[in-house]
Amino acid sequence: MPQPLVKTRSGGAASVPQRALDSFKAAFRGKILEPGTTGYDAACGIWNAMIDRHPALIARCATADDVILAVRLAASHDLLVSVRGGGHNIAGKALCDGGLVIDLSAMTDVAVDPASRMARVGPGATLADVDRATQVHGLATPVGINSTTGIAGLTLGGGFGWLSRSLGLTVDNLLAADVVTADGTLVRASAAEHPDLFWGIRGGGGNFGVVTAFEFRLHPVGPDVLSGLIIHPLDEAAKVLRFYRDFLKSTPDEFVCWFVLRKAPPLPFLAAEWHGREILVLAVCYGGAIADGERIAKPLREFGHPIADVIQPHPFTAWQAVLDPLLAPGMRNYWKSHDFLEVSDGLVDVLIEHARRIPDPQTEIAVAQLGGAVSRVAADATAYAHRDAQFVMNVHGRWEDPSKDALCIGWARQLFEAAAPFATGGAYVNFLTEEEQGRVPAAYAGNYARLVELKRKYDPSNLFRVNQNIGPST
Ligand SMILES: Cc1cc2nc3c(=O)[nH]c(=O)nc-3n(C[C@H](O)[C@H](O)[C@H](O)COP(=O)(O)OP(=O)(O)OC[C@H]3O[C@@H](n4cnc5c(N)ncnc54)[C@H](O)[C@@H]3O)c2cc1C
Repeated sequence: MPQPLVKTRSGGAASVPQRALDSFKAAFRGKILEPGTTGYDAACGIWNAMIDRHPALIARCATADDVILAVRLAASHDLLVSVRGGGHNIAGKALCDGGLVIDLSAMTDVAVDPASRMARVGPGATLADVDRATQVHGLATPVGINSTTGIAGLTLGGGFGWLSRSLGLTVDNLLAADVVTADGTLVRASAAEHPDLFWGIRGGGGNFGVVTAFEFRLHPVGPDVLSGLIIHPLDEAAKVLRFYRDFLKSTPDEFVCWFVLRKAPPLPFLAAEWHGREILVLAVCYGGAIADGERIAKPLREFGHPIADVIQPHPFTAWQAVLDPLLAPGMRNYWKSHDFLEVSDGLVDVLIEHARRIPDPQTEIAVAQLGGAVSRVAADATAYAHRDAQFVMNVHGRWEDPSKDALCIGWARQLFEAAAPFATGGAYVNFLTEEEQGRVPAAYAGNYARLVELKRKYDPSNLFRVNQNIGPST
């Protein structure tokens, strides 16, 4: 039987000795996928269809012991290794060409302890898995806005969503994690155990090891939250966004409003005449009592002449999945992102000008509202550094036809450049594309030097390098 060729970290090709491979396979409880085996091609598919990588070996782990075996195999044979959680990363860091993928997608268990308001979550769980299990008990932890995203990558980069202004980032609710470090040792990271590692994994990505379990603090949420969309024509966007940013100055942390500029999808509640035309969408969520949310949202709902207003109580789990149809896997995607302290007049003009030239009906400019509890944590308390960002823009280039690559990527880059004068210069590591490794130091700002030190301690040979990499000698 031919031995698989696997790329080494130095870029060469090497054969893992058959005996080493046999003993790895004999001890491994999960599934091994190699080119040509059933399931291999599907396992090479990730959210962003622009990523086309073909590993030599995919080790789909069933347990933390499997992860230890895979890390030891990679370390002892100098293999190129990537780690897959939910496979949503825009830069495609879940996969590597010719190397070993430690695939965690089967480790989806979520165990909730309602008495201590804590959840222990497997690294392959999606946000939907987490929300479903925690909401059975009327509880939740703040995660992102697309329920098919993996909890692992989202958490390791910071994590924010509808609940973050009141409850903090996902990492602010992380109590502990089990981590397999580069030498194949399983350790527990928390405030009391390996506190330096615990600091690093709260924003520092997969640079320090493979997390095999996360433990989160939970909070009472729902079961219904007041939430929904208010839609205006793009021609009204300048007026509405100026009102929006002033209105948000007096709203409580529980009230969150993101906005999106895009062409109108054929939503059932939107008159057909608007389908395909440029619109401004305000996406609202209030995490407290419904009646309070109704009162707080009233001025925003009454401003101008919206072409749709579908704000109403929704089950929290349904609201968490409401944008999934617009963000389904399989499309070509290219992102550019900026952090802002405010939605200034100049920024509004730039966004609207580019929204008029949106190159594809699936492409959008999405701006998340942060601040609140996120900003009340010190910038050096966790590896996630940009606590000051009040708004995070994701220029979400999205299209299907490869012949539109240059058009859509070019448009996203132009908007990124035009918006740069209004941005803080920071970046959210979970939004960085493949070409943006150079922005990693900016993503960590004042925390970067400490992260490099930590990398030297926990992964001096940079085994975990297929990520937004913090190099040990940077
Ligand atoms: C449609 C969409 C919507 C999004 N919305 C939000 C949002 O609302 N809020 C937000 O904060 N982010 C959001 N994101 C960004 C998201 O947080 C990142 O894409 C994140 O990297 C996804 O994690 P994953 O596990 O799915 O990805 P993967 O591609 O599997 O992994 C991402 C990175 O984490 C590493 N990694 C994964 N699991 C582990 C592990 N267990 N141990 C060590 N390293 C690991 C991987 O090696 C890779 O480098 C969104 C992304 C998409 C595509």
